[in-house]
Amino acid sequence: MEDYLIRAITTNKEIRALAVNSTKTVEEARKIHNTTPLATAALGRVMSGGLLMGSLVKSGEETSLSIRGDGPIKKILVEANQKGEVRGYVANPKLPLKLTKSKKLDVASAIGKGELVVRKNYFMKEPYEGKVKLISGEIGDDLSYYFTKSEQTPSSVGVGVLVDKDKSVKAAGGFLIQLLPEASDETIDKLENNIGKINSLSRLIEEGTTPEDLLDLLLEGFDYRIMAEKNVEYKCGCNREQVKGVMISLGEDELRETLEEEGKVEIKCHFCKSKYEFNEKEVEEAIKNSNKKQEG
Ligand code: ZN
Repeated sequence: MEDYLIRAITTNKEIRALAVNSTKTVEEARKIHNTTPLATAALGRVMSGGLLMGSLVKSGEETSLSIRGDGPIKKILVEANQKGEVRGYVANPKLPLKLTKSKKLDVASAIGKGELVVRKNYFMKEPYEGKVKLISGEIGDDLSYYFTKSEQTPSSVGVGVLVDKDKSVKAAGGFLIQLLPEASDETIDKLENNIGKINSLSRLIEEGTTPEDLLDLLLEGFDYRIMAEKNVEYKCGCNREQVKGVMISLGEDELRETLEEEGKVEIKCHFCKSKYEFNEKEVEEAIKNSNKKQEG
């Protein structure tokens, strides 16, 4: 079964709900970055959240989630778009195993104290940036807090990743529930009760719970309609021009030094590990163009 995401609205127009199965997508990220289980769980949770958030923007628009903390993982960056494509990386993919008291991968302590920055690149509009302090480091709660605090939309986000004994991803996914402005107190109570019944999201997905089943559980007692369904996948849209921009940011001195030593400059994409090689002529030209831009 391919990974996919569904978006629904209750017929009383009080709740918006999304659910995603991202098992294969997170496994793809694990293979690319060769992450240890704890890093896989952290990255996979943010990626699942990114896919959910990325589905709330319009076609052609992108959402990026960046988490910086004082824990050993240091940084997680995830970018997702409305088409269901996501890519991401962690600064430290080799985190040693650490479990919580309840024997779960300790994502919160891997991330530590820090902040979550959400950036939305709109089509033809100024980008939007929202920033919140991490309140738990467990990702789901932090994303809920972000929506409620920064976007003033009361939301509940659940994300989970289950790593298998052989370190591959056994199950990954998530949900995003948002209260729309017309939501009544009765709806809120019923919803909170439903959300409270979800114990372990990754276990549910492992047991074969589909995004539809998940919405049935979360929206129990409500009529709802599925508005959209789409496949999701790990996809990096990097290209030579973009990577050239990254190369230039290394600075003229460092580039010249590398040229002298190696006769070329090699840049690896952070997201997909693709290698891009630039020869002396290309590097010199890029330096010249960037100097011109700075003067102009
Ligand atoms: Zn790439």
